[in-house]
Amino acid sequence: MNIVDNLQKIKYELPQNVSLVAVSKTKPNEDIILAYNTGQLDFGENKIQELILKHDALPKDIKWHMIGHLQTNKVKYIAPFIHLIHSVDSIKLIKEINKQAINNTKIINILIQIDITNDKTKFGFSINDFDMIMKDELLSTFNNLKVVGLMGMASFTNNQDIIKSQFNSLKDLFNKHKKKLSLDILSMGMSGDYNIAIECQSNLIRLGSTIFGKRK
Ligand SMILES: *Cc1c(COP(=O)(O)O)cnc(C)c1O
Repeated sequence: MNIVDNLQKIKYELPQNVSLVAVSKTKPNEDIILAYNTGQLDFGENKIQELILKHDALPKDIKWHMIGHLQTNKVKYIAPFIHLIHSVDSIKLIKEINKQAINNTKIINILIQIDITNDKTKFGFSINDFDMIMKDELLSTFNNLKVVGLMGMASFTNNQDIIKSQFNSLKDLFNKHKKKLSLDILSMGMSGDYNIAIECQSNLIRLGSTIFGKRK
């Protein structure tokens, strides 16, 4: 496995409008530096403790993406530096992010995570709940956070039709509310399914193992 080759191959093949978050969870700082030295600046982590340690140790122009489930009591630790939180899955969390953004006199960009599976094992708002939130215009009451897009994960299955229909349901939701919220990011697609995600209008993919190799 050669991280630099993997990364360059992926980037060469990506359509112009699709951005890449390199998911570096569980991988050492040396691996991140190899990717960084090719010009990759966006990295994703899913554990707060690991994210903080890596942020402290690594170059300050890295844009950190929080992609894993986030507990409200941890928001304060990442509020000062986080570039984008992909995994916003409750009103309680939205309130806390807004509060910590105020404390840091900044605006924090977030994606709303939508559960597009029927697995019940995934975090996120249901499509119905998100429609309700939009109807109530709830999101416009938080002045220090900006909803810039939606994020979703497909089921772990080899059935491409299922994956495609789940991604399409998120695409439809995105297009439905895009104008009103001026959404521009549709974060979907991981190593196993990113080609399908791109077909379904994804413009931000999150790749870990395809770049860095398998995780233990
Ligand atoms: C781990 C993870 C990824 C990357 O997974 P790979 O299959 O290694 O590409 C993407 N998104 C989220 C939310 C993750 O937790």
